[in-house]
Amino acid sequence: MIRNPYTDAEEVPELDVLAVAAHPDDVEQTCGGTLIRMAEQGYRTGVLDLTAGDMGSRGAPEIRLQEAEAAARVLRLRWRGNMRFPDARLENNIAARMSLAGEIRRLRPRTLILPYWEARHPDHYRACELGYEAAFLAGLRKLDEATPPHRPYKVIYSSLYADVRPSFIVDISRQFDRRMEALLCYRSQYGTQGGAADLFPSEQEVRERLAAVARFYGQQIGVRYGEPFVVKEVLCVDDIVAMGVRSF
Ligand SMILES: [Zn+2]
Repeated sequence: MIRNPYTDAEEVPELDVLAVAAHPDDVEQTCGGTLIRMAEQGYRTGVLDLTAGDMGSRGAPEIRLQEAEAAARVLRLRWRGNMRFPDARLENNIAARMSLAGEIRRLRPRTLILPYWEARHPDHYRACELGYEAAFLAGLRKLDEATPPHRPYKVIYSSLYADVRPSFIVDISRQFDRRMEALLCYRSQYGTQGGAADLFPSEQEVRERLAAVARFYGQQIGVRYGEPFVVKEVLCVDDIVAMGVRSF
């Protein structure tokens, strides 16, 4: 299921939602609950990881790709791919933008989820920049005459890693346990075995941290667990009587 776009000429499904992330296990921590919920609502969801995490202290890239594939099943994804761009030194250059634009044209997502544009890890903000610029390029007819142009209708930014006020929060109370199960598919990254145990959080620590963060966002909309997003455009409301999130 994990495809390398450079070598696999497989048929890809058209998607409703595509999340682009820097590393395998990013979406499992930031927007996985939303992806599960959208799949449960009948949408075709997918993830395109830009790197295989080959600079990580633990877990060879091939192991992380296997883990990502197991996580994809838990997340109920239709498709997951990996661009195999260099980890920890992700570059926004023309070659990377063109390859990513090609994938966006093949997958034709209506909604694109990108990491928030400011981050501690350079790969995260670079993934945002790259994703945005590739999505723009993907809409240019002359980019590649062989594939029809496609530009996502909506770009939303997953802001869980960032200390910013969300534009909206998705209730993932019923998806939270499954998202945790997806994250724990990355056996090489969590737990107390193997090298660098002092640098890697234990499973219990990961569970507590994720629950606390999801609870923090859930509480802001009056539910148990939530995932935050930022949008650049204002939101449109059709019915002010049916609006959620109580004021008092
Ligand atoms: Zn990451």
